[in-house]
Amino acid sequence: MNSPSENTHNGEGKMARIRAIRSAHPGNLMARYFSEDYFNSLDESKRGRLWRIIATGIENPDSQMGAYAQNSRDYEDFEPLLGPMIRDYHNIPTGHEIGQKHDWSATASRCDLADIDPALNGVSMRVRVGRNLAAFPLPGAMTKAHRLELEALVIEAFTTLKADTQFGGDYHSLTPGSPHAIDADAYRRRVAAHQMFKDMGGDRYLAAAGISSDWPFGRGMYASNAEDFIVWVGEEDHLRIMAMRQGGDLAALFGRLHDGLEKFARLIPAFAHSSRYGYVTSCPTNLGTAMRASLHLPLPRLTEGGRNLERAKKAAQDFGLSVRGAGGEHSDAGHGGLVDISPSARLGVTESGIMQRLYEGTAALWSLEKER
Ligand code: ADP
Ligand code: MG
Repeated sequence: MNSPSENTHNGEGKMARIRAIRSAHPGNLMARYFSEDYFNSLDESKRGRLWRIIATGIENPDSQMGAYAQNSRDYEDFEPLLGPMIRDYHNIPTGHEIGQKHDWSATASRCDLADIDPALNGVSMRVRVGRNLAAFPLPGAMTKAHRLELEALVIEAFTTLKADTQFGGDYHSLTPGSPHAIDADAYRRRVAAHQMFKDMGGDRYLAAAGISSDWPFGRGMYASNAEDFIVWVGEEDHLRIMAMRQGGDLAALFGRLHDGLEKFARLIPAFAHSSRYGYVTSCPTNLGTAMRASLHLPLPRLTEGGRNLERAKKAAQDFGLSVRGAGGEHSDAGHGGLVDISPSARLGVTESGIMQRLYEGTAALWSLEKER
């Protein structure tokens, strides 16, 4: 245990670092909104919790957000710091009530990329939501025992899904000694196929938040028979639930996710949800719908043959879209300028709104790509 004087000393050192980050890295939202007066107003226990939440942004000055929630309650308990960061990132004016709404109704209407251009039929489509169980701490604060307990609980739910003809499939565990364990080669193949998440140990932002601790215990994935409904267990959120298909029918893709999500949710304890911020996620960037819907789109012209991701990012911004490399966050463009595009907004928009944005944004970006 640290003595009180050590704690104070430690705290002052961290506050000095935050001041330095604020001037050298103006993009770090934690440093931008951290207030020493607010910090000093907290009791000893809340100060300790706050340091854990923002450790990632102090250890990684180049962070965009600089905080990962450790418990679902953190968003309420630390609203004076996290609230302004969330509003800044999601572009929500102060005073504007967020009150996240959910709506999947557009999945019943036609929304096919082939209507934009027949050449788009066959692109790789993916839509995921992050979900956390209210009964557990968020991944950054879980013990190894929590991680194994969570995995055991969802394995039971997957057993029910496996018996359902619309799902089938199997659970693949990374937990050493698990009866569901897959070997290193099978794991690598699934990562290469974009179905499974990468070794989290390589991510310094997650490591500083404790999210990758105890790797690979309690980690794994379920894939349906057709490999179009997938659930990640133990990544940045307890669960990442997704639908993936090659084609153009966005409504069918979203419908597949919605059906699978509803069925799966009935088999497990309640998700953490807040009336203001919607589904509670580790990273404040994912709050709200916790949904990211993406396409792998070839943009050779807008990426200058895959060499200039920044140019494509700038073009996509006008249509409310973000651009990542084809290997996911922090990767480069793939062969032929293949990139990952997705609507940037997740909070203050509905699930149907995200589907519409992806469709309309793709139409606009595609006509820019094809302009002569
Ligand atoms: P997220 O945070 O939404 O899970 P990441 O950027 O971390 O997304 O990427 C996770 C994995 O999903 C990576 O392997 C990435 O290539 C893959 N991926 C994302 N979108 C698509 C897509 N439309 N088609 C195929 N794979 C995809
Ligand atoms: Mg990710």
